Amino acid sequence: MNLLEVRNLKKYFPLDGGLFSRHKGEVKAVDDVSLTVEEGETLGLVGESGCGKSTLGRVILRLIEPTAGEIVFEGKDLMELSPRQLREMRREMQIIFQDPYASLNPRMRVGETVGEGLEIHKLATGKKKRDRVMELLNQVGLKEEHYDRYPHEFSGGQRQRIGIARALSVNPRFIIADEPVSSLDVSIQAQIINLLQELQEKMHLTYLFISHDLRVVEHISHRVAIMYLGKIVEIAPSDAIYKDPKHPYTRALLSAVPLPDPERKKERIILEGDVPSPVNPPSGCSFHPRCAYREDICISAEPRLEFDADHHGVSCHVFGPGKRVWKTPDPTTKGQRA
Ligand code: SF4
Repeated sequence: MNLLEVRNLKKYFPLDGGLFSRHKGEVKAVDDVSLTVEEGETLGLVGESGCGKSTLGRVILRLIEPTAGEIVFEGKDLMELSPRQLREMRREMQIIFQDPYASLNPRMRVGETVGEGLEIHKLATGKKKRDRVMELLNQVGLKEEHYDRYPHEFSGGQRQRIGIARALSVNPRFIIADEPVSSLDVSIQAQIINLLQELQEKMHLTYLFISHDLRVVEHISHRVAIMYLGKIVEIAPSDAIYKDPKHPYTRALLSAVPLPDPERKKERIILEGDVPSPVNPPSGCSFHPRCAYREDICISAEPRLEFDADHHGVSCHVFGPGKRVWKTPDPTTKGQRA
């Protein structure tokens, strides 16, 4: 069952300026995104910096208002809710931020930070609140003695654990984890990902896990969506993304992921040029200026996300369901030529 359904979601930021604050254009940060997240699953959302993935996360929570589209959570359209109803719904939808230090108030003790949501949503006060905070600290691998300490007394990994305890305090069903491990050492990254997986199993949580790194989302995600210039270009069960990626952009991202076995060789695909500006995105397929496989149609017509019977969706004129297939099924071990 879908817990979240996003339909044709757009977020355009206006570019105003000049003498009379003239409208100069818009940044299409999220451009017609549709996706679903099933109850209990983790959807990994991956793309280069600036592709719109964090904006998409914030628009889903309505921390940023969308320009158009629908966000349906537990069968209710979030755009139709009153401010009071939206506040109540936010209890079910929490976010974990990338930089745990910046997201914690340096003047608040850990106990206050984690317990703040309990008070705001009138879930517990006094001793009941303290007991619940202690329980949460234990659940995320912290100790009761940490209750009275300040954020600066903790390591990066511990601070992210505090952020997770704060998100869990109001018993959410859905958590957006926005680059939750990208500021941490690799060894600590694995601990935090394992913790999130354990919590998901225990509490039947649903995650949207945002990262710029395909390696990071591999073990936690049931499905993975690849985003480029505000659009989803490929979405599929994890196995299919890692073993049989279809979109040239996904293959390029995968070719940059280091292999654990030094004996295995792979050919790195170097993308031409930089990510184009979302203010004036390229015509047709927005990936065409960087794509080695572009054809004439790629420049003139925008591809649509098309799905095969195994729920593998690809937005490409050349590769995808019923189209050209890659000769090398595993791009991480062999050549990349189609
Ligand atoms: Fe490349 Fe064309 Fe596919 Fe875009 S539509 S990814 S330009 S082959």
